[in-house]
Amino acid sequence: MMTEEHADRVARLRTRMRESELDGLVVSAPSNVFYLSGFRGSSGALLITPEQAALVSDFRYRLQGREQAPAFEFVEVERHLYAGVGRAASQRGVRRLGYDAAHLSCEGADELSQAAPDLDLVAASSLVEHLRLVKSRCEVDWIRAAAALADRALAHIASLVRPGVREREIALEGEFLMRREGAEAAAFDVIVASGPRSALPHAETTARELQPGDLVVIDIGARVNGYCSDMTRTFAVKSTSPQAREVYDLVYRAQRAGAGALRGGIACGEVDAVARSIIEDAGYGEAFGHGLGHGVGIEVHEAPRLGRGEETELAPGHIVTIEPGVYLPELGGVRLEDLLAVGPDGAERLTGSAMEAEIPIIR
Ligand code: ZN
Ligand code: ZN
Repeated sequence: MMTEEHADRVARLRTRMRESELDGLVVSAPSNVFYLSGFRGSSGALLITPEQAALVSDFRYRLQGREQAPAFEFVEVERHLYAGVGRAASQRGVRRLGYDAAHLSCEGADELSQAAPDLDLVAASSLVEHLRLVKSRCEVDWIRAAAALADRALAHIASLVRPGVREREIALEGEFLMRREGAEAAAFDVIVASGPRSALPHAETTARELQPGDLVVIDIGARVNGYCSDMTRTFAVKSTSPQAREVYDLVYRAQRAGAGALRGGIACGEVDAVARSIIEDAGYGEAFGHGLGHGVGIEVHEAPRLGRGEETELAPGHIVTIEPGVYLPELGGVRLEDLLAVGPDGAERLTGSAMEAEIPIIR
């Protein structure tokens, strides 16, 4: 599937390898391996040279490797994956081999250098991640499909929110619906964080029963053809307080302002600042302790990062979230997150679920 697109990605990678004066690159991160080759096994590395492309893996993936990555020569190793990569690189006459220090373990690097002592190993970070920033039309379509599944799941599970229901039951229903309707999986464990737990930005879903007056943060995404979506909404159960209304309004305005600032050419840090200043000016800056958003693609969190001072410029084809949040231990948390595709002069919302201007109270 999609081997033409894979060939194009490998060609663009080779251009970047030339610029870095590398005559070989070992690709270790499963997400990068998948992006370049289509291989989805959990153990395997790619060896890319100017002329050749190989998938190095073991017996377990012999069939899967040939099926999912037909354009790659399958090099089978018994054990010690990176010793096999080192030998294959030597056989192909590689002298300067790039590797990604963020993904290759020390043990892997040792195996590599022992198997091929003449190789010049060069840390070459983010070459593939950089290619992944701009999504192709296919990739956008799959992310859009993943977002649509999460929209449907959210509509369903919002109807289950009521006192006495456990966070986990709601999360399970969301995951079940997405998978039944065609998702490969949830993009991440569905987060349902209620009451005091909503004040934890990365809360785990628990067996807690919802109570009247709770804030409930639901963070949900699906995966389609290897591509993720990501969205968050916040609700109140039965009733709410003036402070919760105020915080919701603030987060809502920050979200809209951040999304409105997206366009090609703007620095990620500038978008963060537009949204953050709204929360800071209201005196809640300390309670918004994370970045404004992140890229989404094969991984639910990938480049670029929209955070304070980030200089990376957004470009058409980048897909990012805008997700301000305010977390107060005594009140709970409010986070609102949409997924957007950056265009030259603005951005297209991929999230279809409505974002209410006032906190939705589920009666
Ligand atoms: Zn999220
Ligand atoms: Zn997110």
